[in-house]
Amino acid sequence: MHTTAEVVIVGAGIMGCAIAHELAVQGLTDVLVLERDAVGRGATADAAGGIRQQFSTETNVRLAAHSVRVWETFADRFGSEIGLRQQGYLFLLTEPEQEPVFRANLALQQRLGVPARWVTPDEIAMLNPHVELGDVVGGTVCPEDGWVDTYQATMGYARAARRLGVAIEEDCAVVGIAVEGGRVTSVTTADGIRVATPLVILCAGPQTRQVGALAGVDLPIDPSRRMSFVTEPFDALPPDLPMTIEFASGLYFHPESGGFLFGMGNPDEAPGFDKTVDDAWMMTTVERLVQRAPAFADANIRTGWAGFYEITPDDNPLLGFVGEPAGLAVAAGFSGHGFMQGPAIGACIAELVLGGAATTVDITPFRPSRFREGALAQEHNVI
Ligand SMILES: Cc1cc2nc3c(=O)[nH]c(=O)nc-3n(C[C@H](O)[C@H](O)[C@H](O)COP(=O)(O)OP(=O)(O)OC[C@H]3O[C@@H](n4cnc5c(N)ncnc54)[C@H](O)[C@@H]3O)c2cc1C
Repeated sequence: MHTTAEVVIVGAGIMGCAIAHELAVQGLTDVLVLERDAVGRGATADAAGGIRQQFSTETNVRLAAHSVRVWETFADRFGSEIGLRQQGYLFLLTEPEQEPVFRANLALQQRLGVPARWVTPDEIAMLNPHVELGDVVGGTVCPEDGWVDTYQATMGYARAARRLGVAIEEDCAVVGIAVEGGRVTSVTTADGIRVATPLVILCAGPQTRQVGALAGVDLPIDPSRRMSFVTEPFDALPPDLPMTIEFASGLYFHPESGGFLFGMGNPDEAPGFDKTVDDAWMMTTVERLVQRAPAFADANIRTGWAGFYEITPDDNPLLGFVGEPAGLAVAAGFSGHGFMQGPAIGACIAELVLGGAATTVDITPFRPSRFREGALAQEHNVI
């Protein structure tokens, strides 16, 4: 294993792998990615794989829009099939006060070239004839949105990065980050190996606050348990339905493996690293699902799992250098919508590291210092 590197990336989820790949593409190949587990087995493995451009902040719309173009061409570019399904994201709104908010967000998205549009209940009935519409005031849909296989996408990035000379070490936890004279100088692994480096990029997903603390930095990223469930194959609903989201509750479902994947966050759950499935919340989720789409009453659950959102105070990530110590950067805290932005984040962080500023998308609204500056960038469309 290397004992020096120009860049050490902590974490080999979608972010660590996409950033490593982009650094190598842009000419910096002396990159070492250290992963405590295996590539793509963190939050990235637990994600629903959804990709959407329907956000409320310009930065997120731009990050998502750039990324969609990469997901659409990923198989050709990377030689990895990622199961892209652009069947749309359909938001259902049941609270009248959400209509002006979503219409304003639509105007932003459309100005940035995203083909999202308002849909009436009658139009919703055509897009998804299986949802109860009695309380629905309208919604929005974007036909370019959809979902992909997160593991294959991350492996695609990892393989491509390795081909360009990037080293990715698995079973290799970072347990120390040394700071001397106000600069990062090295990281230490659980096996006691010291890697000298002038630049560390933290991509440790829900664990990023803990890893940042190794360098004496407090990054406001907390884990929040989210559960996903997949039904047995059943044909009461067709496999060409869009990702359907009841915005008020956060309930979502989309076709998956002959059945459907669904989930709903528990707003009362405290932050924490409990990764067990909460059976009581599963029942609450199923009841909500059957109320919204009664055909699910005949479905059986095949599997379920828990993972962690990486929540920040404004539901947006920390992107860029932390300031002090020098040589420490972060790309984490995606608050449940990170996977889909991987391609754009990879490009932006590589540009920032190599050129001093991101050019693919202006990511300064998500600078880590915004919390102490009181310049939060709240995202409204959080699922
Ligand atoms: C149930 C669920 C559904 C989701 N659905 C979606 C969705 O539909 N669309 C979407 O875009 N996003 C979704 N997300 C969010 C998405 O999973 C994350 O935003 C994204 O995967 C974050 O990627 P990451 O690379 O930052 O983190 P991770 O994938 O967690 O990668 C971080 C890596 O760092 C490693 N690590 C941690 N500590 C150390 C250490 N000390 N040393 C070395 N390595 C370390 C971990 O093992 C891990 O592999 C969902 C998340 C969950 C939980």
